[in-house]
Amino acid sequence: MSGKRILVTGGAGFIGSALCRRLAALENCQVLNVDKLTYAANLDSLKTVSHLPRYQLSVTDICDTPALKAAFATFRPDLVFHLAAESHVDRSIEGPEAFLETNVMGTQRLLSAALAYWQPLDEPARAAFRFVHISTDEVYGTLGETGYFTEESAYHPNSPYAASKAASDHFALAWHATYGLPVIVSNCSNNYGPYQFPEKLIPHCIIRALAGETLPVYGRGENVRDWLHVEDHVAALIAVAGKGRVGQKYNIGGHQERRNIEVVEAICAALDVARPLARGTYRDRIAFVADRPGHDFRYAIDPRKAEAELGWRQSIEFDAGIRATVKWYLENEAWWRPILEGGYRVQRIGQSVRH
Ligand code: NAD
Repeated sequence: MSGKRILVTGGAGFIGSALCRRLAALENCQVLNVDKLTYAANLDSLKTVSHLPRYQLSVTDICDTPALKAAFATFRPDLVFHLAAESHVDRSIEGPEAFLETNVMGTQRLLSAALAYWQPLDEPARAAFRFVHISTDEVYGTLGETGYFTEESAYHPNSPYAASKAASDHFALAWHATYGLPVIVSNCSNNYGPYQFPEKLIPHCIIRALAGETLPVYGRGENVRDWLHVEDHVAALIAVAGKGRVGQKYNIGGHQERRNIEVVEAICAALDVARPLARGTYRDRIAFVADRPGHDFRYAIDPRKAEAELGWRQSIEFDAGIRATVKWYLENEAWWRPILEGGYRVQRIGQSVRH
């Protein structure tokens, strides 16, 4: 990343802010965070870097072509990490349109703005430029009890969120195949860690447990996800940008499959140690609730291509990562409490199937 000018979209979100914090800590990088600041954004996640002269924020919608063109023309990036997205599956069930607008149209407009900027660059700059499109393993649909998603797995998105991300992956790769833009796509498994918005499973459970509420688990908690700590994802993205081959896809995961009930039990075990109850255990608060419509049974990543080509490997083991995450939420109530007080309610959405 040495000496690079890096444009990050969605840098005020969960993963984007972790990436901005990591990149802006490198003294010779310049980082421009392009973010619309939706409900999911939190500038408090960037407090450690926002004062640095090598970090800038542009409050911009990735659907706004003139604003994007201006950002490319003035900042002149060597590298784009595209993370801006509507990212919550349950919200996509309630209101899919925003997912098409940002994840599909926004990605297409960003690709077009990047292309218009990249085409007239001189040859060394064109060759060095990278556009890393960040996506999810949910594009591949669901697995049964066995098997793994590889980069060759067919796309079978089941939720509106997954469908919008699948479309965006195809557009990103089409901009490489059609126009030569140096695009690389990464498809990562479920992330967890500090600064994650309280609607996602792990912070949702921690915050509800601290409030003395039940811990809702969809169905019987049998659905399996492959978990990766956000700092491992950030390291993978930097490796993709530095060593990935253009026009390629890389699956990012850490062989840490857990059933949802196991995830909630791990949170309870960490809380039982860090904030013990006067009586009983947090596990007593687990409540099974109606399943999510179209809930994919299992996701599991085969990361061998990323490990072999990028020299990347996950480093944070799940139980240690969960303990550290629980500790972070306990110590950083000042980060998440204002989100709740700002009107976000730690409640279930996404059961409706009509629009
Ligand atoms: P997030 O919801 O926490 O953050 C998304 C950010 O994008 C927010 O800061 C938001 O303000 C911004 N944004 C949304 N719409 C925008 C628009 N139109 N213009 C500009 N900015 C906009 O998301 P996240 O969990 O950090 O995920 C980031 C990316 O990584 C997404 O593309 C997501 O699909 C992908 N991903 C996430 C996970 C995960 O487990 N969270 C796993 C794999 C891939």
